[in-house]
Amino acid sequence: MNETSPPAGLHAAPSIGFVSLGCPKALTDSELILTQLRAEGYETRKTFAGADLVIVNTCGFIDDAVKESLDTIGEALAENGRVIVTGCLGAKAGQGGGNLIREVHPKVLAVTGPHATQEVLDAVHQHVPKPHDPFIDLVPEARGVAGIKLTPRHYAYLKISEGCNHRCTFCIIPSMRGDLVSRPIGDVLNEARALFESGVKELLVISQDTSAYGVDVKYRTGFWDGQPVKTRLVDLCEKLALLAEPYGAWVRLHYVYPYPHVDDVLPLMAEGRILPYLDVPFQHAHPDVLKRMKRPASGERNLERLARWREICPQLVVRSTFIAGFPGETEAEFEALLDFMQQARIDRAGCFAYSAVEGAAANELPGLLPLAEREQRRARFMAVAEQVSAAKLLERVGATMQVLVDSAPALGRKGGAGRSYADAPEIDGTVHLLPPEKASKTLKVGEFTKARVVATQGHDLVAQPI
Ligand code: SF4
Repeated sequence: MNETSPPAGLHAAPSIGFVSLGCPKALTDSELILTQLRAEGYETRKTFAGADLVIVNTCGFIDDAVKESLDTIGEALAENGRVIVTGCLGAKAGQGGGNLIREVHPKVLAVTGPHATQEVLDAVHQHVPKPHDPFIDLVPEARGVAGIKLTPRHYAYLKISEGCNHRCTFCIIPSMRGDLVSRPIGDVLNEARALFESGVKELLVISQDTSAYGVDVKYRTGFWDGQPVKTRLVDLCEKLALLAEPYGAWVRLHYVYPYPHVDDVLPLMAEGRILPYLDVPFQHAHPDVLKRMKRPASGERNLERLARWREICPQLVVRSTFIAGFPGETEAEFEALLDFMQQARIDRAGCFAYSAVEGAAANELPGLLPLAEREQRRARFMAVAEQVSAAKLLERVGATMQVLVDSAPALGRKGGAGRSYADAPEIDGTVHLLPPEKASKTLKVGEFTKARVVATQGHDLVAQPI
């Protein structure tokens, strides 16, 4: 045996090609599967060719995502031939009443729904037996602790629950992911601690409905570090803030609905213990449209709620998404949405023109608007949203902000890019960093730098590192 050949009895590890499509929630499912595969001794790769088998994690949210998922499965079948499919699309029925994926691609080896790590692993074991390696077999169960992450090393998504108890009429997620199941608070906090220990500087808390955390278990008291902790948003935030503090790391909340108890989290933001940033998917502002959408918190007085939040925490940044041209939306209802946008001064807003999603209850609602009208309303909404956002960005010129560096070629000598507390990765703006004035100052990916904002550039800021 020469020094590079494997010892007797050990063979090259079987390799699994992996493609992850869809939202951050799907990404965390992928991370769990990859972590477990690696813990069991499989090699993982991003390519299809040469792999022993391919796993495709799909998205089924909108029609474009369905097409992309089905095309990717087709490519994997053509290039590799041995394919296991998981994810939201795996739970969707086809026109013949059977499983959609099996109807379109009958040659796939197995299909599971989302959040099904064990089922996926069982299917892998059946087709590519688990490698036996006495060293690898000693690796403890990797789930629940910080395993493989598909995000850059300095930020990570932390999924706190799966599924959703609401039944918004435009959404089919509950039919794919089921009702709300909150993860035990001890597991969530252990994962957060492991992530900070491994160098994560920004933790993005995600779920379908973050404010509902613990509702399904009646806010049960769990245990963490030998202490009782309630399975409840404010308690979770309090503990995450404690964990983040020694690392100077950020904690950012996504998918928070404007329920009254969210007010309790705002003091933590005002004190700078978690980021003063809330991603609140309002979707609309007119109460009748919200009722037709069956939105959670549709009866809340959202303008008053926002005013209250900003009173507690003036630096709060709010991101939101909206739908223009929902079935039956009158011009007056749409104008109420524009008024809301102007008064609410949402910092970052995205808007979709309503489009029917196969299987959604809203498809049965009367009053579908012509596509051109829906698109026009979206454009009118975005014109207002961009004005608000640009005005709010301008207010930052001259301010000094903490920026988390995302890219900095040549140690930032020619500048770089990062984000402030007001920018979540992938969905918000960027802070373009100018080359530092002092020769001794460097920028490093995953580290914080202070920077003085000197200008705005579309949705972004330009800043001078100091
Ligand atoms: S809150 Fe509504 S939109 Fe969000 S996942 Fe649940 S049903 Fe879908």
